[in-house]
Amino acid sequence: MLNEQGRPTAPVAASNAGDVQTFTANRGLQIEEPLLFEVGRLDVTGVDLPEAPKTASRLGNHARKTPIDLPGLSEPEAMRHYVRLSQKNYAIDTGIYPLGSCTMKHNPRLNEKMARLPGFGDIHPLQPLSTVPGALELIAELGRWLLAETGMQSVAMSPKAGAHGEACGMMAIKAALEARGERRTTVLVPESAHGTNPATAALIGYKVVDIPARPDGTVDPEEVRARLNEDVAAIMLTNPNTCGLFERDVVAIAEAVHSVGAYFYADGANFNAIVGKVRPGDLGVDAMHINLHKTFSTPHGGGGPGAGPVVFSEKLAPYAPVPFVRLTDAGAEFIETRRQAGDSAHPFGRITAFHGQMGMFVRAMSYMLSHGSDGMRQASEDAVLNANYIRAGLRDLMSQPFGDKPCMHEALFDDSFLEGTGVTTLDFAKAMIDEGFHPMTMYFPLVVHGAMLIEPTESESKASLDLFIATLRDLVQRAKRGEVERFHQAPLLAPRRRLDETRAARQPKLRWEKPEPWSEAAE
Ligand SMILES: *Cc1c(COP(=O)(O)O)cnc(C)c1O
Repeated sequence: MLNEQGRPTAPVAASNAGDVQTFTANRGLQIEEPLLFEVGRLDVTGVDLPEAPKTASRLGNHARKTPIDLPGLSEPEAMRHYVRLSQKNYAIDTGIYPLGSCTMKHNPRLNEKMARLPGFGDIHPLQPLSTVPGALELIAELGRWLLAETGMQSVAMSPKAGAHGEACGMMAIKAALEARGERRTTVLVPESAHGTNPATAALIGYKVVDIPARPDGTVDPEEVRARLNEDVAAIMLTNPNTCGLFERDVVAIAEAVHSVGAYFYADGANFNAIVGKVRPGDLGVDAMHINLHKTFSTPHGGGGPGAGPVVFSEKLAPYAPVPFVRLTDAGAEFIETRRQAGDSAHPFGRITAFHGQMGMFVRAMSYMLSHGSDGMRQASEDAVLNANYIRAGLRDLMSQPFGDKPCMHEALFDDSFLEGTGVTTLDFAKAMIDEGFHPMTMYFPLVVHGAMLIEPTESESKASLDLFIATLRDLVQRAKRGEVERFHQAPLLAPRRRLDETRAARQPKLRWEKPEPWSEAAE
């Protein structure tokens, strides 16, 4: 049923039988927030504009005949709307955000301070390079740190997310193959891979061939060899993988891939687990993206802003896109075009305007400099320790798909511990919301039934991990005691109950339409 504002679900206060009914539908100081279009009025504006001069319209038939229906709000109304919406956000600044694979770590405030320095915060991408030498030096320096941490040859700083970095790396691989006069057609991707990997390979025009996981959750080099031939362009492999396990045969896999002239693309989204411990270049990686918004603590969520620099091996370095930084004795030189690149490089082109996410570069550099290389290694060790602390705290009650063995930076559980309770992974996650926790990653990786992937990151304290573990233990016990209805109804305490997420994704309503009068809509 549509409520008065034409929304598909009613606020909790009105729908929850036995709950306190309020006149306003507000719940205490949690204020029910209508859409901007529902509160705005055409005759109000937050700014004083001079009277528009009377002019003859030259629009003819194109002139709008109906009112434009943009909401007008006073300044306090506009302010309150956005502040209230921001308060409805769950964020890493409000609580633990244990999304596996996403690495939602604390964003140090020092980084924010650095990014707001006028010399970084106020520059514009269309300024001449000669006026921003400090910013360029920072990009070059950050690139140098990324190369040192990964043991690679060159870096493309411009990609704006992990998935964008994957596209960048795979385009460099394609360019390198074309330079050899080869047109290979397939890319190998393990079944446990993040969805962006097969999507990237397909976008670049490759056929994707799956590699099944071993019973222990890792990739078997024999399975890779069985699928390798002169038609394979690359393998896309995540290490540590999305089951939170280090691929122990990664060197053998790299050698096998190289032996048929293919390339090794590493999805570096899980780099947070191994910074300062392992250099991907030493494992035989040819290209890898690094999610600055995961490993190097720059903020993310809601689609951005991310930054996904890509590091390349010596073999692929010449094909890296423009713009790139060439380090010379005279300092950092910025190469912006193929012509400037000269004969030694064959950039595949350009994948984004300008140089990348400057604000994220400053934050990542600030994170690196404030931690130092030893501090970053410590952060990786603590991330692994925290994940194992959670694993150990839950292993007697929650089932682990690959046995009771140490994990890397994320702890993976399956739903067999819920068998016979009538509670699903989804119900369990929704019940966590009532307890004030953002759920873990659910139903991913796909190779695990009812997967629950928990990544606490290094930034959680022992006290917050203990509360998280105690809460999950309590939920498991309630599920086993038969409180199944409670789980099916969850979340009971959130501003909205269960939404039809599939419909929201498949049939998104991207335009606000004036609701029908209440009496008609209710029929
Ligand atoms: C996050 C992630 C990606 C994609 O990164 P975005 O920055 O979200 O585009 C790819 N692979 C893995 C394993 C990830 O965790």
